[in-house]
Amino acid sequence: MNCPSCKLELREMSAEGLRVLACKGGCGGLWFGRFELLKLDNNDKHGNGERLLQVSRAQGVRFFRDVEAICPHCETSLLLRHFFCRERDVEVYQCPKCGGFWIDSGELADIVKSAFATEEKQKQAVASYFKTIFDQRIAKMNLANEDILRSARSIVKIFLFICPEKFQPLKTSLQQKYFQDL
Ligand SMILES: [Zn+2]
Ligand SMILES: [Zn+2]
Repeated sequence: MNCPSCKLELREMSAEGLRVLACKGGCGGLWFGRFELLKLDNNDKHGNGERLLQVSRAQGVRFFRDVEAICPHCETSLLLRHFFCRERDVEVYQCPKCGGFWIDSGELADIVKSAFATEEKQKQAVASYFKTIFDQRIAKMNLANEDILRSARSIVKIFLFICPEKFQPLKTSLQQKYFQDL
């Protein structure tokens, strides 16, 4: 399978029994197959996928924003974009056919890997990142639609999985309303 963005061959990585495909040395994007995601169900694995943020990324590799991208798994259907955020360097796509997710967590990886003056400052940077993702982007998805709500749930689970435990975000009002059990 190849990266839908930079076309490099995706490399398999394992985290907590989940097989995830990563664009190593390219854009650092991650592919989560729908069945792999089921392993995150009813299971508190927050932070256990932290190593997925350590994937090496090439400098200056840009994403495929505004370009139609083909699902790396199905190779026929176009990925559907749930949201993106330029300032946070993040984008989230899903294949309408196989249900897999393509996620580039962008700035989160940078914050986690960067040197900060204090851990408190780093923690604040992560909190601000999640405020944008949850309260501005996911909150704007059409959560009244059951399918979209299910997708949003998977997206929240993926972010909580890859975010290191010491930086786990406080529950936002959005989470309290829709994803109480996550
Ligand atoms: Zn890539
Ligand atoms: Zn697909």
